[in-house]
Formats: sequence, structure tokens, C-alpha cells
Amino acid sequence: MECKNRLIILAHCFLNEKSKVKKYCIDHDANIEEVLKILLDNEIGMIQLPCPEITCYGLRRWGHVKEQFCTPNYRKHCRKIFEIYLEQIQEYIKNDYEIIAIVGIEGSPSCGVNKTCSGEWGGEISSNSNLNKILSTIREIEDKGVFIEEIGKMMKENGINVPFIDFNKNDIKGFIEKLKAIL
Ligand code: SF4
Repeated sequence: MECKNRLIILAHCFLNEKSKVKKYCIDHDANIEEVLKILLDNEIGMIQLPCPEITCYGLRRWGHVKEQFCTPNYRKHCRKIFEIYLEQIQEYIKNDYEIIAIVGIEGSPSCGVNKTCSGEWGGEISSNSNLNKILSTIREIEDKGVFIEEIGKMMKENGINVPFIDFNKNDIKGFIEKLKAIL
């Protein structure tokens, strides 16, 4: 049987929602069976990226906005954990494999592809009388998350061109359409 040399790179929590900030992981898990079936039926190999937030801040982290992750050290962390995946991607490409896409997570300050979350967050929480006002500044904006930005830069630095697509667990149908368009 002919081996179809195609792979897809998946954001960590696409396969493991337990890695998410608590509010999201107590929500129902995404129903990704249909997506996985399409990938398996089309013999697409799957590579799961590491979660940049859990490897930096652990499971007890608060939810963040992009501005809080825009630090040299977090960017360095993102680059460091992607390095070994970049090397694998290079090796696959060298051996005639095609990476059909890198899948990010819509709205994430780290893994968003087209949308991320932004806000004037920061400062002391317990004694801040303006906390609700600060929290209310959160909004979704059209931008990438920090991890996706760094992955994009590293791919470009190495002359690798792969499409990025966002996954939103509340729009599985929309994601399947995006996926089918690149299969
Ligand atoms: S979106 Fe990215 S950073 Fe957030 S839980 Fe998923 S893999 Fe981790």
C-alpha cells in the first residue's frame, strides 16, 4: 500500500484539553472524533506540539492576555520548545513529506492564528479596587498568539512555508471545511 507522505502539526490542547486554563478544561471536551477520522482516513500523520503555557507556568496558571506574554523570556521559551519540532519538520521535508498545516487555537494568547485575546491586564489582584474595570478590558483581536508568532518566524528563517489554521471547538464544522480545503 502506498504511504501518503503527509503530516499535520497540532497545537497541544487540540488533542489534550486538560492542558488548558481551568475555566476551559472543566468545560466539555471538544468533539474532535470527526476531525480525527478525516485525518486517519486520509493517512495524515499527526504531530502534537508542546503547550508553551503549561511548560512555563504549569496547570495553576491564570488566564492571560497576549500583552502579558509579550516578553523576551516567554518568546525565548516558545522558540526553545519549538526547536526540536522544527528539526523534525526539516527532516520530514528533506525526505519528501508534506506538512499540510500547523493548527493553532483560535483566541489563545499563545496559539491563536488569526485571533488572540488582548487587554490591559496586570498588577496586584487581591487589593485592587479597580479589578473589574481592568478585567473588562479583555477583547478578542485579529492577531496571532506569541507561540504562533515565534513558530512563524522560525519557519520563515528556515525557508519553510506551511499554512496555519485556527481551531475553534465551538465551530467543528467550520474547521472541517478549512481542513478539507487543504487535503
Ligand atoms: S492554546 Fe496553546 S498555550 Fe493554550 S492550552 Fe492550548 S496548547 Fe497550551
